[in-house]
Amino acid sequence: MRITRRSVMRGATGLGATFAFGRAWAAAEMDLGNLQITTLSDGHLQLPESFLIGDLPRDEARAILDAAGVAAGGYEPPCNVTLLRSDADVVLFDAGAGPGFMQSTGRLPEALAALDLTPGDITHVVFTHGHPDHLWGAIDDFDEPLFVNARHLIGRIERDYWTDPETLESIGAERQSFAAGAARRIELLGDRLETFENGDEVLPGVVARASFGHTPGHMSFEIGGGRALIAGDAIGNAHLAFARPEWPMPADQEPEQAARTRLSLQQELAEREVPLIGFHLPDGGIGRVAKNGDGFSFVSEM
Ligand SMILES: [Zn+2]
Repeated sequence: MRITRRSVMRGATGLGATFAFGRAWAAAEMDLGNLQITTLSDGHLQLPESFLIGDLPRDEARAILDAAGVAAGGYEPPCNVTLLRSDADVVLFDAGAGPGFMQSTGRLPEALAALDLTPGDITHVVFTHGHPDHLWGAIDDFDEPLFVNARHLIGRIERDYWTDPETLESIGAERQSFAAGAARRIELLGDRLETFENGDEVLPGVVARASFGHTPGHMSFEIGGGRALIAGDAIGNAHLAFARPEWPMPADQEPEQAARTRLSLQQELAEREVPLIGFHLPDGGIGRVAKNGDGFSFVSEM
């Protein structure tokens, strides 16, 4: 396997100004023989520190964040959409946030353009879960599907959760806009959206793997016969989630289940020495899990 870092902006014409500001659209690459993975930046989130720390032991959490260089106050994690290309398919894992979520997100179309791809070139959009920064980008400014030629695929449990009217009541005030936004976009996708189950081979070389907890039906994907794992938000950051995977994180909707999922995934990935791709992990999100004391660390492949 070859893993390299490069910016596809280098050498691209007409986009030099963007590159000069230090924003690389394509952050990392991984070559799995007949499958080529490129992570694309949709931008970054702008969140309050409470999103990370919540009710966790504050001093210990702050020490881990300080060691990782995460300043107090705000938190700006990257958003890495995974592009998988084979001879037959051009697949996106998640669609980014699209227009209207945050000023700092919704850059995926520009990232595709930097690779000479248009939304019309995408053959499949496969969702890890229904949060805004993963799902909302499937619908454009005109309330129409952006990826006009793509089949869209989401886990059945996740689809059922976001389309259940009860979810708007049960999700809590903080995430009510997530529920309304997901339900609306799923409706707009209509019969373009298909569902799959845990263990299904959703595409050649792509097997769905339940990783519930961050959301009730969150899915990860084994790529190329277990040669890489697209983890989505099952492992949501490179510091607290690795140092103390057993902690119930405020970013997760079902924190206890999410912690069990995270811990078992990290144990397994560390043993198998398989690279993972995390939606909010640094350096384009590609790296490995290494055992580190009682917890783990994220080892970027860059
Ligand atoms: Zn999420």
